Order: sequence, then C-alpha cells, then structure tokens
Amino acid sequence: MTENRELCKKREISLERADELKSKITDYLEARENIPKGLFMDDQFKKSKQKILQLFGASEEDWKDYKWHLKNRIKDIETLEKIINLTDRDKKHIREVSKKHRWAISPYYASLINPNDIYDPIRLLSVPTGAEIVEICGERDPMSEEYTNPTGSITRRYPDRLIINVTNECAMYCRHCQRRRNIGNKDEHRPTQIIQQSIDYIRDNPEIRDVLITGGDPLSLPTNRLEFILKQLKSIPHVEYVRIGSRTLVTLPQRINDELVDMLKKYHPIYINTHFNHPQEVTREAKEACEKLANAGIPLGNQAVLLNGINNHKYVMRCLNHELLKIRVRPYYIFHSKHVEGTKHFNTSIDDGIEIMEYLRGYTSGMAIPTYIVNAPKGQGKTPILPQYLISRGKDYIMIRTWEGKIIKYENHETKDFKELIGYN
Ligand code: SF4
Repeated sequence: MTENRELCKKREISLERADELKSKITDYLEARENIPKGLFMDDQFKKSKQKILQLFGASEEDWKDYKWHLKNRIKDIETLEKIINLTDRDKKHIREVSKKHRWAISPYYASLINPNDIYDPIRLLSVPTGAEIVEICGERDPMSEEYTNPTGSITRRYPDRLIINVTNECAMYCRHCQRRRNIGNKDEHRPTQIIQQSIDYIRDNPEIRDVLITGGDPLSLPTNRLEFILKQLKSIPHVEYVRIGSRTLVTLPQRINDELVDMLKKYHPIYINTHFNHPQEVTREAKEACEKLANAGIPLGNQAVLLNGINNHKYVMRCLNHELLKIRVRPYYIFHSKHVEGTKHFNTSIDDGIEIMEYLRGYTSGMAIPTYIVNAPKGQGKTPILPQYLISRGKDYIMIRTWEGKIIKYENHETKDFKELIGYN
C-alpha cells in the first residue's frame, strides 16, 4: 500500500514536471509555424522552376545537370526581373552594386526566392541591395588571410591544420560573403603550380594532420581536378583526413552527382562542411544531395553565419538546426559575421548570438547545438562564446546556472592521483 502511494506520488511529480517542460516549448512551436521551411515549400519551388526552365528554353534534364546551372547563372537585371519582382529602385541599386561587387545566382537558388517578398531570406542572400554601397566601411581581409599564407594558396592559422584555397568560383555569389575580396571579376581556378606548391608544403610539414579544401567553392572544380588534389593529399602519410568546405549543397545541390560521390568515396576519410543559413534553404533537392553524400559515408556539418535579417532570431536558428538534422547534416558552427566591406547591414550584436545559444541549450538536443564562434581579428583564431553557466567558485565548490536559470551549488574537489587511488603507488 505504502509502495503504491509512493509510486503515485512519483508519477504526480513527473506529470507536473512534464507539464512545466511542455510550457517551455509552446512559444517556439507557435513561432515555428510562421518560419518558412524549404522542405514544406516544394510546390512553390516547382512553379518557380517551371518558370525559369521556360525562360531559358531548358528541360528537366538540364535542371538536373549542374553544368547547365553554372553556365546559366543569372547575372543580369533583364533575366532576374523575369523571375522576381524588381522596382526601379531595386534595379538602380543592383546596377550600382555591380560596379563594385560581382553578383550571380544559380537558377536553382533563384527558384527558392519568393518573387514578391523583398524580405525573403533567399532574396536577401543572393540579390544585391543598396545597403552594400550605402556606407563604404568594413575590411577587405579581416582575417588577415594574406598574412597567414606561407606558400601557394595556403592559409595557416593553427599548429596542426591548414586551408588550401583552390578556386574563386562559386555557384552563386552570396551577398554576405566573408571572402568577397577573392571573388574578383572573373572565375579562376588556382593554377596547377600554386596547388602543387601548397601540396608540397603539406608534404614537408609532418605536423599537418588535417587539410581543409576551400575557395570560393571547391566543388565548382571539375571532378577530375578535385581528384588530382585529393589523390596527392591521400598519398601524404601524415594527412589523417581531408575536409571540404562547400556551399553547393545549398546553392547548387545538382553538383552532388554520382560521378562526384563515386570519386570522393575513394579518398576516405572525407568530411564536408556546408553552409546553410536559413530553414528555407533546406529543400527536397538539398536533402537528396546530402543523403547521397551521407550514404557514401561522408559526415556532413553545417557552418552558419549569424546574419541580421536572416537568422538572428532564437527560433529561426533553432528551426534551422532541426531542419538540418532531418537531412543528416550536423550543426557545427555559428560564425559571428565579420566586418567585411559591403556586408555591414548583415552584422549583428554579439548579444544576438548569446541569446540564440541561451535558447538552444536545454531547449533542444545537444546534437542541434553548434558552437558559436567569434573569429578573433587578424587571424588570431576561433573563439567560442557561450552564455555564462559557471557563476562563481569557492574552495570545494562551484556555483552553476542551469539552462532554466536555477543557481545550484556543485561540489568540486581537486583531482587525486589515479594510481594512488587504485593502490598501485
Ligand atoms: S559560396 Fe561561400 S565563398 Fe562563395 S560567395 Fe558564397 S559564401 Fe562566399
């Protein structure tokens, strides 16, 4: 009888706690309804796709071919205004921005834009606005990449890893691009000699165990060119794995074709980090591309950039992370946006990032929580920023703050000698 009463009491407490937890997610669930999510917008995207195919006199087969998209990137106002609504003011701004910063949008990415919404996140990420030239400020190279380039096209900022930059070409030129100085006026893959110098440097420096291939977008290289690089890296015994940083999964998922996946599979371990910024980018076609790579044994991570007007909201970022996990991409970093020339309008306060992190921890699974990173100026490295959970400490204790804001004392003793503890000393 007493046992039964105890069981009932425990159940009562559990139910109360479950209700309390439920109340902590209601506002998110309501907000989520109004966040555009690509996986639920297939009908709208298909209509836009048909319109674009008609405009180019192209076929479904063309749409599946990434080379068709690259060849037909939209880079003139006359074509763009047949796809989305542009006012005279918009057109004037695009013309003015074009003099300073290149723009081009893959037909696929253009099909994700809501043609009538000037605040549509896909539009803001791809179509130039007057904000890019209204205030000329920001740096060209805030990470001082040009001062951390020992040879070839390498950037070296850390003891055991480095970056090789292989091209400046991308499927589209993102308006927030933090490397826009590399984009220049024309597409250029790095010459073989430069790539070779970079690979030779890696071969000569045995502490380099991790190589990140980046650009531009390295998946805009022809498959055999990329294989040439991977093959050489694979032949260096101290290179333990290779990472590829690519936004084509978002802007041109057609690039993830069988030929590419079959080639990549030969050079495991390979990791791909991609760059989704908004749940609207997580579409059926992006999902198919990510699944192909994941099925080939390539782990996928996401590096979002915290951007004003796009994702600097606690619920948009939570929703993005959930949508990514559905398509087998693990949220990895949220980068605080740097002060890059022409992108000031996208910069946010650090407080926005801290608030986002505050509303992730505890509210969602650890899998859906990336690390929020501020890149220290002049290439001094990634610095994680977190809300404060360690409040204070005493001799044998610390005071912690839980995700719900409860302040709790937690015992903390000096670590004892392990061998002594198990009696072998
Ligand atoms: S794909 Fe990456 S490198 Fe290319 S424009 Fe976009 S953000 Fe910049």
